[in-house]
Amino acid sequence: MRIHDDIQLDYCDVLLRPKRSTLASRSQVEVLRNYTFKWSNKTIKGTGIVAANMYTTGTFEIAREMQKESLFCALHKHYSAPEIIQFLTENKKQFGSNDLLFVSSGVSDADYEKLTTVVNTGLVDNICIDVANGYSPYLMNFVRKVRAAWPNALIMAGNVVTGDMCEDLILNGADIVKVGIGPGSVCTTRKLTGVGRPQFSTVIECADSAHGVGGMICADGGCTVPGDVCKSFCAGADFVMLGGMLAGHEESAGEMSTKIFQTGEVNMVDDTHCAMALEEKQYKKFYGMSSAYAQEQHYGGLKKYCASEGKVVELPFRGPVGPTLLSILGGIRSCMTYIGAKRLKDMPKCASFYRVNRQLNTIFGNE
Ligand code: 5GP
Repeated sequence: MRIHDDIQLDYCDVLLRPKRSTLASRSQVEVLRNYTFKWSNKTIKGTGIVAANMYTTGTFEIAREMQKESLFCALHKHYSAPEIIQFLTENKKQFGSNDLLFVSSGVSDADYEKLTTVVNTGLVDNICIDVANGYSPYLMNFVRKVRAAWPNALIMAGNVVTGDMCEDLILNGADIVKVGIGPGSVCTTRKLTGVGRPQFSTVIECADSAHGVGGMICADGGCTVPGDVCKSFCAGADFVMLGGMLAGHEESAGEMSTKIFQTGEVNMVDDTHCAMALEEKQYKKFYGMSSAYAQEQHYGGLKKYCASEGKVVELPFRGPVGPTLLSILGGIRSCMTYIGAKRLKDMPKCASFYRVNRQLNTIFGNE
């Protein structure tokens, strides 16, 4: 039995070390990056934060808000081809191009057929191919097939967590490898299967391997606060994919509900009567795409030989997503001034980390 006994870390196990820097203010840093790729011949200017292709976050509404800030969105695959084509047509008129959008695909024949219908319109050729287990030969074969069909497409494929598989996927036609198994906020893969790898260590190894063969990585899952996104870029991620941080907003999909709570406060009505104070709170549903709930919603029920690998949560409603995006970008800019990185791309070479046991003082709560 082989045990890999080098330490495996998550974002919560590290903090960035500040460095003396010549950057006087956040306005001196540049979060926009020109992305060029191994296979695709296009150049895309943007900040590599990608809305996850989950039903709740890979929505047309989130896509519009992401693009306003030059951020990316991987549209979920539960829209029909005509819906996607109509959206892409309108989006191109609004933003001038669809370069910040990915269309998503699984690896079945039906997925390929739908992908062909969408990509052959010429409206988009950024393709996100993902399966829960990126070690399956179906993924590699599908990547080869898509690369052969569209030599200039931008292909992101995953998910895996080891350098060897990143190299293989890139050498077989992927431009970007999506990394992460089990770090997601509504993922239960690790509980159910015992499989996974702490995301910070995954990003470090996979970025090194991918960059070594001319590819890139997208760190998928596990970011809970803007600081985690900063750590991910510093660890070498070219793109960072977010689900939970973008869920629960106006532009996210998911059922809304209202709940009434007793606050514990007592208000005097008159000298002899008092009333318990009540508070109304709104919630929005967010769920894992492999949860039993998602299987029921999108695939007509959980198959007999499959178990649920995701959960359903109700998030306190957070209003429009725009301010959340600005706070993430603000966090990145500030991080860059702390570590002396003028460009997004410079973050890994400017970064060094402390291993920590505790990073937050929670005496007055977790906020
Ligand atoms: P988050 O940003 O919420 O931590 O993670 C988002 C990522 O979690 C998604 O991009 C996707 O890779 C992963 N994910 C989404 N739903 C599920 C699920 O039901 N099971 C598993 N294992 N992963 C999921």
